[in-house]
Amino acid sequence: MNDHTPEQPAEIVARLRATFRSGHTQPVEWRTNQLRRLREMLTTHGADLAEALHADLGKSSTEAFRTEIDFTVREIDHTLDHLAEWLRPEPAPVPAHLGADATAHTQYDPLGVVLVIAPWNYPVQLLLTPMLGALAAGNAVVVKPSELAPATSAALARLLPRYLDTAAVAVVEGAVPETTALLAERFDHIFYTGNGTVGRIVMRAAAEHLTPVTLELGGKSPAFVDRGADLSVVADRLVRGKFLNAGQTCVAPDYVLTDPETARALEPEFVRAVERLFGAEPREAAEFGRIVNERHFDRLSALLDSGRTVTGGATDRATKYIAPTVLADVDPTSPVMREEIFGPILPVVTVADLDEAIAFINDRDKPLALYAFTESDATRARLAAETSSGGLGFGLPLAHLTVSDLPFGGVGESGMGNYHGRYSIETFSHRKAVLEKPLG
Ligand code: NAD
Repeated sequence: MNDHTPEQPAEIVARLRATFRSGHTQPVEWRTNQLRRLREMLTTHGADLAEALHADLGKSSTEAFRTEIDFTVREIDHTLDHLAEWLRPEPAPVPAHLGADATAHTQYDPLGVVLVIAPWNYPVQLLLTPMLGALAAGNAVVVKPSELAPATSAALARLLPRYLDTAAVAVVEGAVPETTALLAERFDHIFYTGNGTVGRIVMRAAAEHLTPVTLELGGKSPAFVDRGADLSVVADRLVRGKFLNAGQTCVAPDYVLTDPETARALEPEFVRAVERLFGAEPREAAEFGRIVNERHFDRLSALLDSGRTVTGGATDRATKYIAPTVLADVDPTSPVMREEIFGPILPVVTVADLDEAIAFINDRDKPLALYAFTESDATRARLAAETSSGGLGFGLPLAHLTVSDLPFGGVGESGMGNYHGRYSIETFSHRKAVLEKPLG
């Protein structure tokens, strides 16, 4: 390779495919070694990555470690602890007509060359977690970080080749033209995280080669608050979940759904909860992030008129600051309710009762997450049975995605497929059916 001409997508894929076909990525020792090297990269250069995340998103170092760097390290450790067990062939009972000496089992085969396309909001975690799953499953991987988090993209492009086996892992930086060029190549799996519009572009490109896709998309995740819930606890947990990363979290509670009385009682609790978490002036709080760019800042600013401001509302375009904001008296047809908010604005919408709440949820796209705060077993059971969402969280937003043994992914408009822990192995492997009948 000539140092001055960047390697073209076709060359990268051909090179990685040759590596894959040589069997290089198959041995479990190679896989675990890659995971250990990645762990070393994260522990040695955690501060560099945190700095890049601060430059891109105003993320505090504490948040960068908690939600991105340490999160990924935990996923590595969990995978290293269980990989051998997850890869073990599973015997299957054989029907009598094949004879008593026949046996059958399933075996996990790696797929080949995987493409991972990541977004800007958790640009470390959402690139590395799928990548490490693909490596653990024995694949070669091309990763494409988001151009909208340029400092993090540059840091990953610099660090990953220093730690991982470049015969099997390639980083391609770039925006639409570079991603479009990559998508023209034949991959064995494409793992995309981002919005549904691009998700459709990815799926169309994949269809050309019959390549399977995982689409980790977003949407409006509701938070239902039942009568009788402890509203101080509810407000506290909603504020923490919603305003993490300035609301730019795919599983953030998008809006609150509750009865009018509870909505009124929640208002002072939200004011207190925001102040408890960020102080009287959230602008000064190290723990409160900024909006990724002017385009999103302008889009979000236009949503602030969709209701009566309970708390927040302040903005500053120069620093891309939007205060943690709660809106009351929000009409379900107002602009803030017509798109995924993906920013620090929490509208409260009222419904008469649980029946109406369930109808409200089911009348809309299937969300990535549904949250509910209730003391009632019957309400929990009804929400679990009568609604569909990627994940369901009772009492605590976001937390389900930190449980490595739960599949993480959407359904319907919020995506298809899932990953984390053993589910990453399922996603990035082919489960091959094997039958054995002795010749004798
Ligand atoms: P983004 O703009 O960074 O785009 C994601 C990726 O798509 C980037 O790598 C980008 O280069 C690429 N891309 C953009 N346009 C493209 C095109 N025309 N062709 C090919 N590739 C293209 O991120 P985003 O989409 O703004 O991310 C926010 C969305 O992602 C929200 O909807 C959020 O809910 C969702 N999200 C989902 C998850 C999840 O795990 N389900 C996680 C984070 C974000």
